[in-house]
Amino acid sequence: VFSDAVFHDAVEQSAIAISITDVNAHILYVNPAFSAITGYAASEVVGQRQSLLSYKSTPRSVYQTMWQALKSGQSWTGRLLNRRRDGTPYVAELTVTPLRSAAIKGEETRYLGMHWDATEEH
Ligand code: FAD
Repeated sequence: VFSDAVFHDAVEQSAIAISITDVNAHILYVNPAFSAITGYAASEVVGQRQSLLSYKSTPRSVYQTMWQALKSGQSWTGRLLNRRRDGTPYVAELTVTPLRSAAIKGEETRYLGMHWDATEEH
């Protein structure tokens, strides 16, 4: 039997940084790889905006394209310049996916973010 505990372990032990946000991109959950890559403990970022990772140098049009995709129910993949807790930049290869919980009527959309440090490849 493939249990919820296995899914939980997969997310917690993934080497890819994973975050789950509400519809306004406020962070609800981050996995340990997110903390390892960004330098932020989960307790520091839960409740904060996902934009706290932005290095503020990525063109606005990139984010607009991302949000257009998300609002139309599609996932988006691209590269952004992110900022770690210590201020150093890194290239994030990011995929964001809208999560729909069809089972729970009226439940708000959440977003799943998955990224890794692609600086070496850049
Ligand atoms: P913002 O004011 O947030 O956005 C710039 C433009 O994006 C706006 O003009 C608007 O067109 C659009 N926009 C922003 N928020 C919304 C919204 N809620 N609904 C509709 N349109 C909107 N950003 C990173 O830089 N690095 C990351 O690693 C990263 N990971 C993310 C993971 C997830 C799961 C999600 C949902 C978002 C992630 N983002 C990430 C995007 C982040 O939420 C911000 O939109 C982005 O960082 C730009 O922030 P800003 O404050 O400069 O501009």
